[in-house]
Amino acid sequence: MKRLTFIFVLIASSGLAATAWAQTPIAHKFIQVAPGVYSAVGNGTIETRSSTMVIVNADDVFLVDTNITPEATRRLVSDIKTLTDKPIRYVVNTHWHYDHADGNQVFGPEVTIIGHQNERTEILAGVLKNRIALEFQNLPGQLDNIRKQLAAEQDPARKAQLQDRLKAQEAYQEQLKETVPTPPNVTFEDHMTIFRGDREIRLIHPGRGHSDTDVLVYLPKEKVVATGDFFEGPGTGALAFGFHDEWANNLEKLKALDFETVVSGHGEPFKRKEQIAYFQAFLRDLWNQTKALHDQKVPVAEAAKRVDLTAHKEHYRNINGPGFQEATIARIYQVLDQRTGSN
Ligand SMILES: [Zn+2]
Ligand SMILES: [Zn+2]
Repeated sequence: MKRLTFIFVLIASSGLAATAWAQTPIAHKFIQVAPGVYSAVGNGTIETRSSTMVIVNADDVFLVDTNITPEATRRLVSDIKTLTDKPIRYVVNTHWHYDHADGNQVFGPEVTIIGHQNERTEILAGVLKNRIALEFQNLPGQLDNIRKQLAAEQDPARKAQLQDRLKAQEAYQEQLKETVPTPPNVTFEDHMTIFRGDREIRLIHPGRGHSDTDVLVYLPKEKVVATGDFFEGPGTGALAFGFHDEWANNLEKLKALDFETVVSGHGEPFKRKEQIAYFQAFLRDLWNQTKALHDQKVPVAEAAKRVDLTAHKEHYRNINGPGFQEATIARIYQVLDQRTGSN
């Protein structure tokens, strides 16, 4: 695997962190991808869910995405102080999903929060409120699952890991309570460019894909692009959302950019641009097979058993046999039904 050929600079716990922030352990690992540009990946101390990108400019900091709760985002803000004293002046959300936008509220009026105009409309219409309510419904079951695994686990190292996970998830359930969905205060439709010192930051809406609010954050000089959940390279990412046929086509807009490194919304940065074509082929196959079953009026549960994407297993480790996640198949049926309904 040539995935990690560039040099990672880890600033997990600098001397500054150890002294000034001794009370609160560092919650994010920073991986430098270009001078002053970092991917911030949660280290498990607190539920962050998403990875973010930090761009340190001449006079300020530009943050790509917030974490899943206000508390995780406050920890991100304090961890960024181990990199620089400059203030965060800009935040951009790569899409409205709660794991990328539920920390927006920690920023005051001096911070410009940017997003696609649909993101503002949708958050004001209540999408995040609904998502948080669903999370409150799902969490008790998920916590019980971890407790069951913990009770059954014999291996001490694995048991300790599960214990940490349970602690972080119980805290997360509490941390969710203070969330007040906060929309961007500056919006755009197709693209927007921001110049800070000698840094050029291009925000591009590639069209509908993982959501109808996707934003790519492109640094042309540094050849770095942040993709949110629109493209997750070696992983397929979350597929129970979006518009899969348009997604495959709109990935061409990402392909057209001259970049070397991707900072995606989950996991660590990666290279290998050819993965875009693998993902397009995967999405098209998923869409076409599901559409054929939909058109034959095969029920969703049955279609989920029949869709077979094993042709792509060489590129995606999570594919190991026929059948596919029912929620994704249901989403494709929903998109197809909405289109028929509107024609
Ligand atoms: Zn998402
Ligand atoms: Zn996400």
